[in-house]
Amino acid sequence: MQQAHVTKQQWLIKFGFALSLLALVAAIAIHSGNQHQYKDVVESGVLKIITRNSPTTYFQDRDQSSGFEYELALRFSEYLGVELQVQVANSLEDLITEVESGNVAFAAAGLTVTAARSEHVTFADSYMSVTQQLIYRTDRKRPKSMQAMLEGTLMVTAHSSHAQQLRHLQSTTMPELSWIERDDAEVSELVQMVQNGEIDFTIVDSNEFEALSGFYPKVRTAFDVSPPQDLAWAFAKFSDNKLLNEARDFFHLMRETGLLAQLQERYYGHQKQLDNMGTLTFLRQADERLEKYQSLFEENGQRHDVDWRLLAAIGYQESHWRSLARSRTGVRGLMMLTRTTAKEMGVHNRLNAEQSIVGGSAYFAKLKKRFKHIDEPDRTWLSLAAYNVGAGHVRDAQRITELQGADPERWMDVKERLPLLTKKKYYKHTRYGYARGYEPVHYVQNIRKFYDLLVWREQPEPSYSLSEEGSIFTASNTYTTIPPLTRVN
Ligand code: GLU
Repeated sequence: MQQAHVTKQQWLIKFGFALSLLALVAAIAIHSGNQHQYKDVVESGVLKIITRNSPTTYFQDRDQSSGFEYELALRFSEYLGVELQVQVANSLEDLITEVESGNVAFAAAGLTVTAARSEHVTFADSYMSVTQQLIYRTDRKRPKSMQAMLEGTLMVTAHSSHAQQLRHLQSTTMPELSWIERDDAEVSELVQMVQNGEIDFTIVDSNEFEALSGFYPKVRTAFDVSPPQDLAWAFAKFSDNKLLNEARDFFHLMRETGLLAQLQERYYGHQKQLDNMGTLTFLRQADERLEKYQSLFEENGQRHDVDWRLLAAIGYQESHWRSLARSRTGVRGLMMLTRTTAKEMGVHNRLNAEQSIVGGSAYFAKLKKRFKHIDEPDRTWLSLAAYNVGAGHVRDAQRITELQGADPERWMDVKERLPLLTKKKYYKHTRYGYARGYEPVHYVQNIRKFYDLLVWREQPEPSYSLSEEGSIFTASNTYTTIPPLTRVN
């Protein structure tokens, strides 16, 4: 009896010892895996984050990295004064695991804050609110209620907030609901599958669809599948909080300075401009008409150091690439030059495509010089507005912007004031008077959209992951300088 008791005690001691050893090993393992606390980041000079490839997070645009999340993280690294290193996760599950194990500082990946995830990671402040949306193909009847999801194949990304939402619906109101989860499919692939008719429905976040819809004209959103949800960066649970607090301060500053809104405007601001028909027509006409003029756009782009696709986008907006185009107001030719501008640019025959492109490109380059003190991409957008409505009116709108306490060098601010030039109360105090100020706003947004489509059209084949060849997504990234945030200590 006694003997047995001692053995048991001994066993307990041994067991306890083994347990503490295990805990120690685990702690060491966790600690050594976790080289990404604030101190480590500052000491090593490297901020390593994890993200995923998608139009709203991270992608390669020609030869440069891009994406809303990427740019946010890049600005944060600049704010900390360190270098950014990006790791791309293969799946959402890997992404969370990497954060949990401390192999990265945090995940910047368009992650939805959910209760289930909050058990594993700590979220920083939310920087955007989204809803989950059901996507369907336009040639079928618009789904009206959740029940419609029972009438076709529904596919979502595995381990996503969308899959979580479906599970929630299934366990509460729709036990018969079924769907397929794909680990290897990224959101644009799912949308493409709906467009091709390979599946009937998918669910994506509203911001994702906003960024994508311009490229997939045959799909539409039916309704919201979830209430508004927050997107935020995810940190390891055992983080020391210092980095998390830095992120909080950073987002606070980004918001206060308007830089967050500016970044959002750049990635999402122009996407809604073109309706689906517009996109289809554009792509068809690009196939039919652009080839004839492409080398002219390229040559002139090189001459003036302007991306040729931007010049081509202007040409499309002006005339749909028709050399004989004319407007009621007497503007003519492929680049729609006025008589005065044509003369100024040495164009004798406005209906000659080559002369029109040479003159139009030189005129645009000239306008850009006028705005040369302004940072890109705003400089380009303001010059485009000037091409449309005249530099004088743009200057007037800039003055109104300044008077109203906003930034006259920021397109986002000026585009809100341009339409005021139609109102007497405002234009009577300006130098150049009345203008149809809403026109340049549409004009610029259309051109941004056309530009994006031209970039997209050049990509080999739609690729869903960050391939060597690049990605199908773009956000007018030739024009992406948003000033870095410097820390005020
Ligand atoms: N916000 C979604 C999530 O957190 C993104 C996933 C996706 O689009 O696949 O799961």
